[in-house]
Amino acid sequence: MLPLPVLEKAQTELVNYADSGMSVMELSHRSGLFTDIITGAEQLLRDLMNIPDNYKVLFVQGGASQQFAMVPLNLLSNSKKADYVNTGSWSKKAIKEAKKYGEVRVIASSEDKNFSYIPEVTSSMIDPEADYVHITTNNTIEGTAFQNIPDTGGVPLVADMSSNILSEEIDVSKFGLIYAGAQKNIGPAGLTVVIIREDLIGHAPESCPTMLDYKTHSESGSLYNTPPTYGIYMAKLVFEWLKELGGLKEMEKINRKKAELLYGFLGQSAMFQSPVQEDSRSIMNIPFVSPSAELDAAFVKEAKEAGLETLKGHRSVGGMRASIYNAMPVEGVEALVEFMKHFEEKHA
Ligand code: PMP
Repeated sequence: MLPLPVLEKAQTELVNYADSGMSVMELSHRSGLFTDIITGAEQLLRDLMNIPDNYKVLFVQGGASQQFAMVPLNLLSNSKKADYVNTGSWSKKAIKEAKKYGEVRVIASSEDKNFSYIPEVTSSMIDPEADYVHITTNNTIEGTAFQNIPDTGGVPLVADMSSNILSEEIDVSKFGLIYAGAQKNIGPAGLTVVIIREDLIGHAPESCPTMLDYKTHSESGSLYNTPPTYGIYMAKLVFEWLKELGGLKEMEKINRKKAELLYGFLGQSAMFQSPVQEDSRSIMNIPFVSPSAELDAAFVKEAKEAGLETLKGHRSVGGMRASIYNAMPVEGVEALVEFMKHFEEKHA
């Protein structure tokens, strides 16, 4: 979802942005109006996340999947070794990609239990020589999330935050690099946000493609080539919406309330269950199952008829999944819980 006020603002500005007689889609990325949009978006993100001055904010393309390659390409610059935590499908893809560029060690994994928990990660597990440690803070498909940021003892921590960036307050200074595809909490697909500590920029090998070198985007203010201009504009509107709402502190409160509503219901339901260990639960993606695949299918079908969309679990795990990103209002989760109660009574 995108916040409705954001879509409505975009609608009012669609054909004539700031009295320019043009749509944002028609503006040159070198125009003054677009410069204001991209610098404004960056400043808002910096304010929202309290990003320290020694970090660069980059707006790039290629999705989080491209970061699976850019991270090792740019950061494997000394020992060429990296430590990864394997917490699900997206971690696995990140690991597979990194292996093309260096020596990858999986220091902790929850694969033994279907990725239903977050394994413990302590600084003693980390190779002090590693160029970085990689985690996926929120596991979109499995519905788990790190509850604490691991202490990596000075080794730069890299985080895929695609599905929980901006959902709660975090301390950016604990990370060397944060990346996220925009399409969950930031805006429409096509934009990828990278927040990188300055000392980690500029170490890519000569052979690194120009577009995959963080330095290229850092030195050009994300304007080396034509960036996804409309996506950046939409991100700016989302950041403004978040600021107006009261920032990440307030967003986190709302997100916790939504998650508690659904987990609370799951905890007492005779039909539905969460497959995720209690101490590892995500507040963004909440998978749940009924006792049978037939009931799961009936649930998804009847929910859709009742106007509750996109509840089918990811094809790799089945069951159901409620993705309750920032833009999902409390009322949306209340409607889901009400529907689940009725479904449970009907199919008891
Ligand atoms: N990492 C995580 C945690 C994700 O949720 C996703 C997308 N669902 C990706 C990576 C892949 O992102 P993209 O499609 O932007 O490449």
